[in-house]
Amino acid sequence: MKELLNIDGLGEQIGISLGLEDKVILVTGGNRGIGAAIVRLLEKLGSKVAYTHRSDRNTQHQALAIQADVTDKAAMEAVAEQIEQKLGSIYGVVANAGITRDNFFPKLTSEDWDAAIDTNLKGVYNTLMPAIPKMYDRKEGSVVCISSISGERGNLGQTNYAASKAAIVGLTKSLAREAARYGVRVNAVAPGFIETDMVKSIPDKVQERILSEIPLNRFGKPEEVAWAVAFLLSPIASSYITGAVLRVNGAQHT
Ligand code: NDP
Repeated sequence: MKELLNIDGLGEQIGISLGLEDKVILVTGGNRGIGAAIVRLLEKLGSKVAYTHRSDRNTQHQALAIQADVTDKAAMEAVAEQIEQKLGSIYGVVANAGITRDNFFPKLTSEDWDAAIDTNLKGVYNTLMPAIPKMYDRKEGSVVCISSISGERGNLGQTNYAASKAAIVGLTKSLAREAARYGVRVNAVAPGFIETDMVKSIPDKVQERILSEIPLNRFGKPEEVAWAVAFLLSPIASSYITGAVLRVNGAQHT
């Protein structure tokens, strides 16, 4: 189990192929947190990875780094162009970039409402729109959108975030139905609480309460989400799975 969580040096240990070698895959928000773990795993699996970063790039990654904000439609169109020129046809997209702007509803400003929706929902539209028609033309591809346990069951102080993440599920299921005839699969991963900056920013007392609700009795690791994403991207391992939401939450919500 420990070795499986250690992505570094892991590609060689799997022994079988997920069929992701040389596949061109875009990961948004790949510089840190869950996105960084996804980039690292895909690199190990032999994919040609490109990732976007809004702040600093990740100096540990070999992957193509492109600075872009997912709320900027033109910038995301340019990202897709750059990837196709430098790496080749895009096979996979992981719409991972996301933010929280938490507050109890009466105190939630319209700026915080808009920020969560613009990044977490419109950002996914901006990410997918330049890639999807190209995938349709080529009759292959796999999309993974990162939703959240909050989108499934709601969460205190997260009306904006939960709304955006629930919307991702609707988008995923609808696009999966449309895309199926073009040989393109669309799935979502709904992580529970994963040890990243996003969870570290939750006050200790609240973290303790959350922990007490998790049957596996720990927060998840970014690598554990990365494996679920790689599985759903795989043209071999998940070829009959589309329109699905894969929970990675230690049975916190089933
Ligand atoms: P982090 O806060 O650690 O990282 C967020 C990532 O998203 C960063 O790479 C960040 O870039 C990027 N990002 C944020 N806003 C934008 C933007 N406007 N344009 C481009 N990139 C942006 O979060 P996590 O790794 O924890 O979360 C990753 C995804 O997983 C998110 O969608 C989140 O909602 C979801 N999730 C996380 C859970 C958790 O427990 N951690 C649980 C459930 C879902 P930068 O570094 O430049 O800010």
